[in-house]
Amino acid sequence: MRSSLIAGNWKMNGSLQSVVELIDGIKDGDAGQAELAVCPPSVFLMKVGGMLDDTDIALGAQNVCNHDVGAYTGEISAAMLTECGCRYAIVGHSERRSLYLESDELVAARFAMAVSAGLTPILCVGETLYEHEQGVTEAVVAKQIDAVLENCGIAGFAQAVIAYEPVWAIGTGLVASPELAQSVHHFIRGKLAASDGEIAQQIRILYGGSMNSSNAADLLSQADIDGGLIGGASLKADDFLAIAQSV
Ligand code: PEP
Repeated sequence: MRSSLIAGNWKMNGSLQSVVELIDGIKDGDAGQAELAVCPPSVFLMKVGGMLDDTDIALGAQNVCNHDVGAYTGEISAAMLTECGCRYAIVGHSERRSLYLESDELVAARFAMAVSAGLTPILCVGETLYEHEQGVTEAVVAKQIDAVLENCGIAGFAQAVIAYEPVWAIGTGLVASPELAQSVHHFIRGKLAASDGEIAQQIRILYGGSMNSSNAADLLSQADIDGGLIGGASLKADDFLAIAQSV
């Protein structure tokens, strides 16, 4: 039985004061049965991690370097993230892929580095609007996953989470229908099952893309949707908790 994970990707939002208020609000509320994780901007990781010490809420980073140490200005290593108390690291978010030109291979290298440091990567996959309209979603997602399989093998997925995030749904208010999301999640699980049935059954596959308290219950009731990666709606404690309570 897979437990549900509701993870908030705060992106480049907030201030020292607002992240404290947000964490206080989340800690004061009721998340129901879901496991919660928050992924603040990296400069706030230590602060937020300290505030989460006495809770079950997990800390995650928004990215992780593909090298372990050295002259990589602006990057943050997996070891540094574990030292900050991170359990998770998002890799391959569509904003990293499109705005910072991160290739499937680079994302796979970041994923590998996270795994080797004991972090759980949250691997984001998903198609653009153009690809969606061309009907090539499964091919796009398969290629993104294949890059990780080539780097890490199926064993890498034993300690990973996947987030299916249709790019056209991220931050747009457009949400994939529960049926569409379920069919892609089912495809992803089936693809992993071709290499290892047990890993495919235990891996959590989150949906991301304009999930909110109104649409979460329908999405989260699908058989292969094991939680959500939440952007905009994770910036308000009540909205984030309402999604978690939909599990
Ligand atoms: C995201 O950025 O991962 C995301 C899902 O954003 P939003 O919920 O705002 O669409």
